[in-house]
Amino acid sequence: MDIGDVGVVGGGLSGLLTARYIDRLCPDIEVRVFERRSRDRYRVDCGGGFIDLRGELGRVVDEVRPFVSCMVDRSLWRFSNGSNLTEVCFKHDDFFWIIDRLGWQKKILNDIEGSVDVVFDMEVEPGSLDFDLVVDASGAKYQVATAVYGVYKGDFSSFSGKAVFDYKKGLNGYYWLFPLESGYANIGYGDFGGEIREQMLDRYIESLPVDVESKESGGGGYFDYTYFLKDVRGKRNKLVQKRDGGWLARVGDAAGIMDPLTGEGIGGAVSSSYHLAKSIKKGNLEKYPNRIKRHNNHSIRLKMARHRTENYHKFVKKISTLDGVNASDCYKVPKFLLKHPIRSIKFLFA
Ligand SMILES: Cc1cc2nc3c(=O)[nH]c(=O)nc-3n(C[C@H](O)[C@H](O)[C@H](O)COP(=O)(O)OP(=O)(O)OC[C@H]3O[C@@H](n4cnc5c(N)ncnc54)[C@H](O)[C@@H]3O)c2cc1C
Repeated sequence: MDIGDVGVVGGGLSGLLTARYIDRLCPDIEVRVFERRSRDRYRVDCGGGFIDLRGELGRVVDEVRPFVSCMVDRSLWRFSNGSNLTEVCFKHDDFFWIIDRLGWQKKILNDIEGSVDVVFDMEVEPGSLDFDLVVDASGAKYQVATAVYGVYKGDFSSFSGKAVFDYKKGLNGYYWLFPLESGYANIGYGDFGGEIREQMLDRYIESLPVDVESKESGGGGYFDYTYFLKDVRGKRNKLVQKRDGGWLARVGDAAGIMDPLTGEGIGGAVSSSYHLAKSIKKGNLEKYPNRIKRHNNHSIRLKMARHRTENYHKFVKKISTLDGVNASDCYKVPKFLLKHPIRSIKFLFA
């Protein structure tokens, strides 16, 4: 197929990266990005926790590194069954970084402007555009889950070097605490049930052994992991389809590529943009979904999320057992568990 021009709807991470990868890999293709926000109101709602679960980071490592505000060398997963709190600590090198997501996006924007046309203040419908390929990078479509967060000022030294994921009984969702540069932390709450209650986040913060001075900023948004929901809905989000006079492809949150367990979507935005550009370069756009499938083990992720909700008691018990043995000293856990904490959670369920 011949693709001469590409219109990208959305100037978030997946839209900008799609533009940049296409520009690099296929310099003959003309790319235009439409962003509905103005340059001044350009913003990102995100925890900025970059998990290199599928190795995407290898592809962008050099460009992300300048925006790393915190190198986390431990992930602390806390599971509460109401009365007991079990902590499982995973040590990993170069695995979990907290990044300045907006700074990174602005840098990509800077890099591509000149060869890519980026139009701000322009809200468009993917269906209304006339390009050989329209890329929908406009973010979450379905409110599968909702999240709120805040950037707080305070004394978070007890969490320095640790990224916290907290799961609580009776709650569909989870909390996170990502330390930023000294004296600040991004703390948030994501609820798979749909309805978010801001006071839950306030309550969580009150329960933490930290002194919080003030809330500096905050926001929220939707989690869309419909790509992983095939088993539930009987169909998967279409990543690419033919349309009148061309093609339509989806990347990032618009494709629903977000981890249902952790809400991690940055990796999916990076990988889907990259694989789409690769497919265009190879002249086989139809293979784009296969590439994504290979790099996103969706059935495992979905099962993990389901198991966690449905078998909460069993789950906590197993984690507790593990805790008794070696969870507090994770250096003894086999290498696989250290490298793949999320998969190891699945491992514990099995
Ligand atoms: C509170 C919260 C915390 C999160 N924390 C993390 C985390 O710690 N780690 C992680 O990996 N992921 C996290 N995520 C998920 C992550 O932020 C997303 O997966 C990621 O932003 C997806 O990027 P995207 O470019 O696909 O979509 P977006 O970042 O949503 O970008 C979409 C862009 O499209 C624009 N747009 C929308 N519609 C139109 C239109 N019609 N015309 C023109 N422009 C349009 C929007 O203005 C926006 O700029 C979090 C999400 C939320 C809500």
